[in-house]
Amino acid sequence: MDGSSPTSPRIASRRLLAAALTALVLLAALACAGTARADDAPVTAPAARWPVGGTGIRTAMSLGAEHWGFSPCRGKVAVAWAPLSAGINAESSWSNDVDPFLQPSRNGDCEITLSLRDDWDWPKLCSVVVHEVGHLAGHDHVDDPDDVMYPLYVRAVPECLTTPEPAEVAPPVARPAVPPKASAATPRRVTKAKPRPKAPAKHPRRR
Ligand SMILES: [Zn+2]
Repeated sequence: MDGSSPTSPRIASRRLLAAALTALVLLAALACAGTARADDAPVTAPAARWPVGGTGIRTAMSLGAEHWGFSPCRGKVAVAWAPLSAGINAESSWSNDVDPFLQPSRNGDCEITLSLRDDWDWPKLCSVVVHEVGHLAGHDHVDDPDDVMYPLYVRAVPECLTTPEPAEVAPPVARPAVPPKASAATPRRVTKAKPRPKAPAKHPRRR
């Protein structure tokens, strides 16, 4: 009985399945081609979805402050969207006249820049903000991939998964994107009134 007559229907159904799978693959390829064309256009979608000063960014900043137990830079952090280099989803910079990490209470000129070129969802955006706030709160990178201070984004932190994406209740006036900086090594301008002997620290976070 085995291997005798009742094989043809099975073969036929396999051929049908193969044809169906081929169609699905073609559809997927067409979808990918459409996505690739869309990627060539300037990407402003994340800045429109999570505008600076909007509810989403402010919620992420609050979760960052809660995560680290205080609001660094006395709550004064300039957040911006900019087309950062490929592979970098965000970076933070700050000045400190003593040490980049040992005395975060002295941090000033605090900035967090989010990349317009990255693919974002709410848990990722929130977690990356928690990471950058961590730098402003005095935390350097660590080697543990389960730690939010790991330099690469691996997974969302729990509070960013449990906090639903907030609605943008009152979108502020859109600000122009910050142009890309000339070089990651270029120190930022510091005010003459407060000379800072050390160059500001800058910690890009890669995908
Ligand atoms: Zn970092």
